[in-house]
Amino acid sequence: MKPRLMPEPFRSKMIEPLSLPCRSTREAVLKTSQYNMFQLKSRDVYLDLLTDSGTGAMSKEQWAAMMNGDEAYAGANSFFNLKKAVQELLGFDHVIPTHQGRGAEHVVFGSLAQPGDVIPMNMPFDTTRAHIFHAGARPLSCVVDEAFQPGLDAPFKGNVDLGKLELVLAQHPRQRIPLIMVTVTNNSGGGQPVSLENLQACARMARARGIPLFLDAARMAENAWFIQQREPSCKDLSCAQILRRMMDCADAITVSCKKDALVNIGGLVATRTEALYYQLAPRTILFEGYLSYGGLAGRDLEALACGLREMVDEEYLAHRVAQVGYLGDQLSEVGVPVLRPVGGHAVFIDASAFLPHIPRRYYPADVLSIEVYREGAIRGVGLGALAFEETDLSTGEKIPPQLELYRLAVPRRAYSNHHMDYVAQMVAAVYQRRNSIRYGLKLARESPVPGLAHFVAQLEPVEL
Ligand SMILES: *Cc1c(COP(=O)(O)O)cnc(C)c1O
Repeated sequence: MKPRLMPEPFRSKMIEPLSLPCRSTREAVLKTSQYNMFQLKSRDVYLDLLTDSGTGAMSKEQWAAMMNGDEAYAGANSFFNLKKAVQELLGFDHVIPTHQGRGAEHVVFGSLAQPGDVIPMNMPFDTTRAHIFHAGARPLSCVVDEAFQPGLDAPFKGNVDLGKLELVLAQHPRQRIPLIMVTVTNNSGGGQPVSLENLQACARMARARGIPLFLDAARMAENAWFIQQREPSCKDLSCAQILRRMMDCADAITVSCKKDALVNIGGLVATRTEALYYQLAPRTILFEGYLSYGGLAGRDLEALACGLREMVDEEYLAHRVAQVGYLGDQLSEVGVPVLRPVGGHAVFIDASAFLPHIPRRYYPADVLSIEVYREGAIRGVGLGALAFEETDLSTGEKIPPQLELYRLAVPRRAYSNHHMDYVAQMVAAVYQRRNSIRYGLKLARESPVPGLAHFVAQLEPVEL
């Protein structure tokens, strides 16, 4: 029998003390932070599951590598170490470091997308979507329908629906589609993987039309792990081999290295052709930095080169995915409506099912984040109408996204399985008292940043 609780394949060498603020502090800081998790101070949070982005713990090898940082403006050794890691692991010859994932998005969409263009995708992540809009283009979601059935257990709910993609490609002229992008794993859809077979089919469709295929590869290693576990034809391949096959499908990738690549800051674009590299170069230099550092210090490039090699360690990946699954399974067992199957980096809870008596326009996912903080000083985040609603330009009406999710993202190598037990207990306690949660939220002030309301929203509770 497989152990449900997999012990950590690492031990602590340095610790960071945590403390649990008392109930009256929690009540007070909810008010002063306008009920927005992004406004909380981290010192007022016990377990911070706001995001798995840049919040992981680096290894001793990564810290040691940082001492080798070559801080030369151009042509630093550290850049060539990074480039070598990308070439060996991912197979791309041209590498552009960026300060983080959205820097890579800015470079790519700013350079390649024009007003009026469409970008077919499985689903865009929030900053990706915002960057596509910023370029005057529109993302077109082509994810499989299963992605919108939170209770349905299917192995590859991040897959592109090839029929939908075909339709989008048929409905738009080739010159209006600068690229196709597939997010692995599909963060906005619950950290769900994309199968290798699906990636290969997307690649064939893209190539047949001469459209470049990009991967948004923030969680490429977790995706490779799921492929190994769930795609029968890949069960005998190593995660590194699967990763390489995933990459073989793509013409280029954008990466937030703050996720699977195990660094606290960094991103990259990697391309197969020199032509594409030079298309992206001007914007990189203008907004990120010179092509050999892209807004990062030499030491960051070293830590990243090392993190890329560590992310495919199968003992690490096995524990990583098991730890997140362990939290999700505990919640499922007590009836909490968890998005199934549990994703690679986070447990997503269906907030509409958890708090069915709170209408979507009162942001139930964000009410849930307040209640979980109130219960146990745990910070998660609402990813529902507040984060993703769109305004119908003709009627002014707000259109909510299909899913109203609350996310508990697990930082890499930072928290123990015992911490997951505590989270499960606190969320279960909120679930037990769910019917007594009789308020919703309204915006005290409209967001000045379209598409990114959740980051800056000031909220007020309204009694229901
Ligand atoms: C985090 C993330 C990004 C953006 O990266 P940042 O490093 O936060 O700027 C883009 N795409 C996906 C899928 C992500 O998870």
